[in-house]
Amino acid sequence: MTITSPIAESAARSLSPRRRDKATHRGTCQVCGRLQKLPGGILSKHGYTKRWGFFEGTCPGAHYRPFEQAFDRVQVAIDRTKDQVTNMRSLIASLQDLSTVTDKAPYQAYDRSGRMGYYEVEVTVTEEPVFETSSAKVIILTETRGEKTIRHYGSQYGFFHGVADAILRLRGMKIGRLQRDIEQRERYIAWQERRVREWKPGELQPVKEDA
Ligand SMILES: [Zn+2]
Repeated sequence: MTITSPIAESAARSLSPRRRDKATHRGTCQVCGRLQKLPGGILSKHGYTKRWGFFEGTCPGAHYRPFEQAFDRVQVAIDRTKDQVTNMRSLIASLQDLSTVTDKAPYQAYDRSGRMGYYEVEVTVTEEPVFETSSAKVIILTETRGEKTIRHYGSQYGFFHGVADAILRLRGMKIGRLQRDIEQRERYIAWQERRVREWKPGELQPVKEDA
């Protein structure tokens, strides 16, 4: 058992505040490849690089050692990305299986208020006359969000030829988006697997005093 005197501890803190808090070096993130400061020898909190096109939010490489010193988080990132690809492939298979067709379809909606931008949602596909007296019909894609329903028209894709056509085409478009997402992830996995194969210790970049 180690007994630490509180006095010795606070003395150590006051002697080396810079070493504890201020980064003296930068290093490369194991997960996303960004160069970040290393306060206390670990990567500072950061968002993902746009390089891979599919990451969002805070990078899980934060608070771990830099790639120059370790690659323990690389395999975790590869495994997680492979799981995502597996899930996407099974989603594609279920979208291609026409026995699962209902009146619902996947849709990439656009939030006009701009807060959400594009987002993925499941919509109910129905058909209504353009006017009450008209024989021309328009496809309505209804999104349910809690108590609220939002009607999308999907007119950016041109006209759908009826509900069945709309559902099949919306499924096809979703499959296309998933295939692009899978390609991005496969590029990322290949990059990470190469990094592990070729790994050797590297030098950290010193942070300039006035930086
Ligand atoms: Zn990162």
